Amino acid sequence: MKAGSNRCGTASTARSSWLSIFAVDPQPLEAVAARYPMRITPYYLGLIETIGDPIWRQCVPDPRELSEVGLLDPLGEENLSPVATVVHRYPDRVIFLVSGSCAGYCRFCTRKRKVGCAEMTISFRELREGIAYIADTPQIRDVIFSGGDPLLLPDAVLADLLARVRAIPHVEIIRLGTRIPVTLPERITDPLCRLLQRFQPLYLNTHFNHPRELTPEAAEACGKLADAGIVLGNQTVLLRGVNDHPPLMAELFRGLLMMRVRPYYLHQMDLTRGTAHFRTSVKTGLKIIDSLRGPVSGLASPHYVIDLPGGKGKVPLLPEYLQRAGDKLLIRSPDGELLEYPDPP
Ligand SMILES: *Cc1c(COP(=O)(O)O)cnc(C)c1O
Ligand code: SF4
Repeated sequence: MKAGSNRCGTASTARSSWLSIFAVDPQPLEAVAARYPMRITPYYLGLIETIGDPIWRQCVPDPRELSEVGLLDPLGEENLSPVATVVHRYPDRVIFLVSGSCAGYCRFCTRKRKVGCAEMTISFRELREGIAYIADTPQIRDVIFSGGDPLLLPDAVLADLLARVRAIPHVEIIRLGTRIPVTLPERITDPLCRLLQRFQPLYLNTHFNHPRELTPEAAEACGKLADAGIVLGNQTVLLRGVNDHPPLMAELFRGLLMMRVRPYYLHQMDLTRGTAHFRTSVKTGLKIIDSLRGPVSGLASPHYVIDLPGGKGKVPLLPEYLQRAGDKLLIRSPDGELLEYPDPP
């Protein structure tokens, strides 16, 4: 094996015919895809309008991914894993890594060190170890199925895992983290919705990043899940050159509400190696949050969070609304006025 190539053991697929549609030289992309696998669903590919547009940037390899800037495991997940399939950072909730693959590989993925790679192949033994850990740890109330994408598992495997976790008495809620409604909406079938319905209370967080992803197909997928009684949330990643623009974010979050999906988190990009070109300043994120407060429905405002390096946890970031002037408290209104507020001592 050549150094730095084929780290994932997947053959490069970048030279596929679709690149010729866009008249792009596949050569530079192949080196990238050899290190970080490429996979794009035909549906998501169909959302691309021009080379370098916000859909393209999310899914097509970019030579800048080969930069060594950043950390392999920015959230220190490996140190927080009592068993290979569980990340246990907060006392009452865990991430359960049930799948090593996704319908499409996002170029900005925090777990790009392993998602889609041979080392992310998850065995039934590792899944059983994960369930045993959750069963043996009574403080766990909340189990977040993640990966990879849990909805890429066959229905029967998914149902079996959900049933085993649901049967643990101290587990109160189950969450699914999935990008399937964005990249492969046809996977949200009626049988899948009936299957999921059996494991209430079930919360599903999906991952829309751009208004152009809010298609009729995606709306239908989310509608089916909502009709099945599943509570839908969304996690957006703030991406330079994709969605780092206040009016666009307002459109995205309002559009999600129309699809019965509640914006939950806006994530500051993690310090993941190979994703530096997507990173914005924190100031950009704060500006977006500030632009929503007032003009846009409160339901459309997610928490802007930064996940601190080394597994130190998520912290919400808010624009500066409070000022102290001596013993006076000044509060900035959504219109930018500084108002004195009588704060009891
Ligand atoms: C984000 C995260 C969670 C879930 O956090 P919430 O704020 O409850 O959504 C749980 N465990 C880990 C390791 C996480 O990174
Ligand atoms: S769907 Fe999620 S886990 Fe999969 S590549 Fe995209 S960001 Fe990573």
